[in-house]
Amino acid sequence: MTSEKVDCLIIGSGPAGYTAAIYASRAGLNPVLYQGAQPGGQLTITTEVDNYPGYPDGITGPEMMINFEKQAKRFGADIRYGMATSVDFTSYPRKVIIDGQKEILADAVIISTGASAKWLGIEGEERLNGHGVSACAVCDGFFFRGQDVVVVGAGDTAAEEASYLAKLVRKVYLVVRRDEMRASKIMQKRLETLPNIEILWNTETVRLNGEEGLESVLVKNNKTGEETLLDVTGFFVAIGHKPNTDIFKGYIDMDETGYIKTIKGSAHTNVSGVFACGDAQDNVYRQAITAAGTGCMAALDAERFLMEREVEIIADDILETN
Ligand code: NDP
Repeated sequence: MTSEKVDCLIIGSGPAGYTAAIYASRAGLNPVLYQGAQPGGQLTITTEVDNYPGYPDGITGPEMMINFEKQAKRFGADIRYGMATSVDFTSYPRKVIIDGQKEILADAVIISTGASAKWLGIEGEERLNGHGVSACAVCDGFFFRGQDVVVVGAGDTAAEEASYLAKLVRKVYLVVRRDEMRASKIMQKRLETLPNIEILWNTETVRLNGEEGLESVLVKNNKTGEETLLDVTGFFVAIGHKPNTDIFKGYIDMDETGYIKTIKGSAHTNVSGVFACGDAQDNVYRQAITAAGTGCMAALDAERFLMEREVEIIADDILETN
């Protein structure tokens, strides 16, 4: 296995990773960024991004991520294809294995591996992704103004997505597989105040119909077996996200779902020299702009950490020579 020593390693290439790369390059940390399995991250599977400040006419997700990458490269970030497949944070410098075959030793590691939306895996879902099927109401809800949509899920995300969409669309069918919701009581109360939300209890989604775009959704009541075809143009899956943090398990503090815990108001994790940003550590906001913001925090924290370490090393050297 080949080995390489770097000052700052960034794992992941969404808005968090690229922003960390921009700041780390400008701070002279010579960052090396590995893009992971989906270069550009979740934004590359959305269409228009209308809510990122600075783009008055909107921009497509993929185009935006190309711009992020170009900007990071302009300051000298070393951006590479490759996926972190395992880590060892028990020694210093921190060790990260890329594609199972290359060892990187890094003085600072910035984790920006993001999260992935969970999908139902039903017929039509993948084919119509971006053509009526979405996992983000805040990103895509605007395109369904005045239309009818389905939201699937029964947690806080589903409740929040349904409430958000209710302000924009004509009608929201909230498809809940059991006879109760997991969402907090206050969120459920809010749903009750919105007259254009209809909750379909004990209901599962069978199939999505449409060729160029979504035309209808077939649902089935799992108590009565009755099937209903809903004429909707939007289908929002809100059954949770999974942070892409499996390789860090056992090395770093996480919550029960796998979101990395950072020290409040910073990007520091419980492991010195390892920082986390973006959706890998955020289960609440999950926006491109918040991911970018925490990417900036991670780079600034890494810079400060490396500077303090250098000062310590110089101080130790002085003590030894004296
Ligand atoms: P959750 O895991 O809380 O909920 C997922 C929901 O999806 C569950 O109700 C589950 O149903 C349903 N579900 C899972 N798989 C399927 C399936 N195959 N078909 C149909 N339904 C399915 O995820 P959330 O994203 O809602 O929330 C994650 C965390 O983030 C929570 O801790 C939440 O409180 C928090 N959060 C907080 C917010 C806030 O405070 N504003 C906003 C959003 C999230 P079932 O109940 O039957 O298992």
